[in-house]
Amino acid sequence: MAPIVVNAAGPHSRQINELAGVAGSLQTTTQPHRHEVAYLSAPAAYIDHGNGFVIDLDTGVYQRPDGKDLLIGSADPDCDPPDIVDPDDYSSELTEQWTLRVYRAAQR
Ligand SMILES: Cc1cc2nc3c(=O)[nH]c(=O)nc-3n(C[C@H](O)[C@H](O)[C@H](O)COP(=O)(O)OP(=O)(O)OC[C@H]3O[C@@H](n4cnc5c(N)ncnc54)[C@H](O)[C@@H]3O)c2cc1C
Repeated sequence: MAPIVVNAAGPHSRQINELAGVAGSLQTTTQPHRHEVAYLSAPAAYIDHGNGFVIDLDTGVYQRPDGKDLLIGSADPDCDPPDIVDPDDYSSELTEQWTLRVYRAAQR
């Protein structure tokens, strides 16, 4: 029996722990937290100037270049309730999360 097992199943890690029968004996637990990530066409100057990763805890978003796009994600501010989902059965539709992220980045 291996002395150490690393569970690297990402959003499914909780199920793997349950399959292995160790879920109740671990010091940490995991759960899949759904996030919507916004991709917008970046202004040319944003890419040309090599902007890096910026996180703004006041507006609750982070942003970084992704190819020619501007990626906007969440910094998980306290005002946003966590969207905990079943990793095998969740909506991939965009909701107001996406719009909110973009508005927050625009404030910045
Ligand atoms: C659009 C987007 C942008 C992102 N940008 C960033 C960023 O800028 N910076 C950053 O740090 N993070 C970013 N992330 C998050 C980052 O991608 C994840 O945090 C990271 O991939 C998690 O890695 P992981 O190895 O823990 O899990 P995963 O990458 O989810 O890997 C888990 C693996 O386990 C496998 N698996 C699950 N169950 C089983 C099973 N029963 N048997 C066998 N295999 C199984 C899955 O198939 C998968 O390959 C971004 C994510 C997205 C979607």
